[in-house]
Amino acid sequence: MKTFAGKCPRCAAPLNGELLTVAGVPNVPPRAGDVSVCLYCTAFLTFDNALERRELTTSDFIGLDAETRAELIQARVRILLYAAQFAQWGRRAHMPNVDKNLAHV
Ligand SMILES: [Zn+2]
Repeated sequence: MKTFAGKCPRCAAPLNGELLTVAGVPNVPPRAGDVSVCLYCTAFLTFDNALERRELTTSDFIGLDAETRAELIQARVRILLYAAQFAQWGRRAHMPNVDKNLAHV
């Protein structure tokens, strides 16, 4: 059984599909075109036809339905707010690649 473990194509953080599927049910294998968000750098990702992860392009993002675009943005904001909360407590979230994105919230 393929586990879909791998690395984020943007930040190289180790990932697994169970943690990353945005709109799916846990433990359902990803399909080509499914989207997700990296918990480490908040990159929007998709699975290609070989079920390898790649970053969504701007054209990919525009081509998604409005609900999916909103879910991706909400997921990114939640991740960044979580990291910001940790920063307020004087602690670093275990997200070494997310700090550079905080300015975009
Ligand atoms: Zn990443």
